[in-house]
Amino acid sequence: MQLSLSRADLIRTHNFIGGRWVDSSGRTFGVRDPSNDSTIAEVVDSDGSDARAAVDAAHAALPMWRAAPARARAQTLKRWHALIQQHEEDLARIISREQGKPLAEARGEILYAASYVEWFAEEATRCYGDVIPETVRGRKMLVIKEGVGVVAAITPWNFPAAMIARKIAPALAAGCTVVAKPAEDTPLTSLALALLAEEAGVPAGVLNVVTASRSRAAELVDVWLADVRVRKITFTGSTPVGKHLARESSSTLKRLSLELGGNAPFIVFDDADVDASVDGLMAAKFRNGGQTCVSPNRVFVQAAVHDAFVEKLVARVAALRVGPPSDAGSQIGPMINQQAIRKIERHIADALAHGARLVVGGTRVLDSEGPNYLAPAVLTGATAAMLLAKEETFGPVAAVFRFDTEDEVLAAANGTPYGLAAYFYSRDLKRIWRVSAAIECGIVGINEGLVSSETAPFGGIKESGYGREGSRHGLDDYMDVKYLCQGGL
Ligand code: ADP
Repeated sequence: MQLSLSRADLIRTHNFIGGRWVDSSGRTFGVRDPSNDSTIAEVVDSDGSDARAAVDAAHAALPMWRAAPARARAQTLKRWHALIQQHEEDLARIISREQGKPLAEARGEILYAASYVEWFAEEATRCYGDVIPETVRGRKMLVIKEGVGVVAAITPWNFPAAMIARKIAPALAAGCTVVAKPAEDTPLTSLALALLAEEAGVPAGVLNVVTASRSRAAELVDVWLADVRVRKITFTGSTPVGKHLARESSSTLKRLSLELGGNAPFIVFDDADVDASVDGLMAAKFRNGGQTCVSPNRVFVQAAVHDAFVEKLVARVAALRVGPPSDAGSQIGPMINQQAIRKIERHIADALAHGARLVVGGTRVLDSEGPNYLAPAVLTGATAAMLLAKEETFGPVAAVFRFDTEDEVLAAANGTPYGLAAYFYSRDLKRIWRVSAAIECGIVGINEGLVSSETAPFGGIKESGYGREGSRHGLDDYMDVKYLCQGGL
């Protein structure tokens, strides 16, 4: 593979099971470079037996890891954190190559991923229980927390490092062991992180990573769903797959954390600071080419500020530089694959057919570089009848809806089965509290477009799923509560 790294051995193509790099099947699938659709590496196309071997290893390692003092687990995670930081540039190059985000953004993702490892290393030593005041003479009541056991982590392609880090770090901190399956588009980042975990001293079997093509993903994960030794599934991805996991894990009643699709509203009220709202939308919408689950999907702008907002937004979007991820000046890289770009084009065509206006962008560009580049777009005149109002577009398209009243926009914003993130801009304090209470979602950005942080709970409600990642709640998701009652004292 042509990728200049200071440590070429960070490119792994085998599964990591029980502390060994193994290829039992001999089958492989190609990892593609989204910037030109060339194949950058062949990795193992695992099947059910690999999935089972990973659980065997994770289950065998569980008693030892669970019994390790919290401080020992914390120190291992701190070493992993240090190694991730130390290899920031190499890891960023791997992400950028397999996922397509501009290199500067990829570096940011590595630091963001590392921040979860550091946070949970610290939280590992602080997961306190309770001492319940005596209710009966001669009886003591205590509550302790214990890791749930073997955790299966299934991740998407849009943040190949951050998604895996914010699942593995809390699981390991809690004393759980992990079997992980990264997305088929971006397995190399996870494998590189596993190598660094091994070097950090994560014991054999505590972290296992298996890769599979799209066509074998279900076969592999089905083995985990049916296995009673897997006590929790943690998943980030689409709502249909999340529902499938919830259904199929019910026979063994596993714990679940599901971070699923969103359809985030971004509301600009007429009392907003319009410049700040444009800044916020640019950051929230066009990061990672709009391929982010908390990315605003519907931009609602109140009539009095609509035209001024659109004018400023269009100028900013027209100035965005689309280009290869490796170019320092690129702000928008290629979309992940042909399927993704076709969905975006379908949304634009449907919006135009329903009366929207394409003010800027929305066409394919840089054909000579590769087939996955799209000029970032602004549409106006968007309505609830359009596909882009109902489904996540997952691309660099800002669809602007004009509205008149607060009640009207709240009904529209909440008129979706999803409830992950929402954003609104206003300078009226009463409105800020009113809207914060009325909006149905797990994350609210108030006069702020960038809300993600390892110190805060990330997750949704409604069909965006349940469970939280990051913050102290992110650790609780990997722990069971045990109540100890001692009598006869
Ligand atoms: P996206 O639309 O972002 O690709 P998906 O939900 O399709 O989201 O994929 C997210 C993750 O779920 C990936 O790792 C993918 O391989 C995995 N996946 C896809 N289909 C299934 C399935 N039927 N069972 C288990 N995992 C699946």
